[in-house]
Amino acid sequence: MSIVTRFAPSPTGYLHLGHVHAALTAERAARAAGGRFLLRLEDIDATRCRPHFAEAIAEDLRWLGLSWDGPVRVQSEHMGEYRAVLDALAARGLIYSCFCTRAEIAREIVQSAEAPHAPDGGVLYPGTCRRLGAEERAARLARGDAHALRLDMAAALRSVAQPLLFIERGEGEILCRPECFGDVVLARREVPASYHLCVTHDDAVQGVTLVTRGIDLKPATDLHRLLQALMGWPAPEYAHHALLLDAEGRRLAKRDAAATLRDMRARGISAAAVRAMAGFPDP
Ligand code: GLU
Repeated sequence: MSIVTRFAPSPTGYLHLGHVHAALTAERAARAAGGRFLLRLEDIDATRCRPHFAEAIAEDLRWLGLSWDGPVRVQSEHMGEYRAVLDALAARGLIYSCFCTRAEIAREIVQSAEAPHAPDGGVLYPGTCRRLGAEERAARLARGDAHALRLDMAAALRSVAQPLLFIERGEGEILCRPECFGDVVLARREVPASYHLCVTHDDAVQGVTLVTRGIDLKPATDLHRLLQALMGWPAPEYAHHALLLDAEGRRLAKRDAAATLRDMRARGISAAAVRAMAGFPDP
């Protein structure tokens, strides 16, 4: 099977050394196997993404000496496809509308004895709107009340074969525990399709066979595997890599202007030196 990898940044800032490491990891894994390397812009969050950052990503990657196969996939151009996935899950009774505000959820959780957290740090939704009566739900939808769409985790788990596993390169099979995410949000008012939904959908339609990405996203893979199983999408192999740290041992972030490719380029640092700093010295 030919290897297909991808680099999938969000255009919410300029690329920094951490992105260079992620991009080169994906590109080298594909090239070493004679496979294909794809570029995808994860720009569904219109509140945070900016077109000039999207343009800068392609330009910075070219400067770095990276080329990708085929056209860039831009997620915001595919909202209809994500909607169709949500509709398919809704038709199977696997998602429900949730009208709770963040403040209401926080209040409810304070009142309950303990507040378990999901692996991404969010609080676990207590399930309030899952228990709404059909009439009230219909009335609120008819009134146009703002709502999110949540996965009914228990129903979803009942509808897929168990155990759910994913393959991590170098480690083998890993048992998934998507229940740790509770009734996760798959769409909200401001962002009509969640990262989890779009990333698994796109990896499937783009034929990605090896997902390389930062170790910070490894816990999310449990949920991604569940979405793949629900939708009948193939399960790619995963290779989560360590994150690059700054001199103080902190993870590089978009706010660290000095580590952006733009800045390094302006200071006259060569693309080869940047590749070496990101852990990929030229042979
Ligand atoms: N768009 C995500 C990010 O910028 C990466 C998603 C992924 O590789 O699965 O962190």
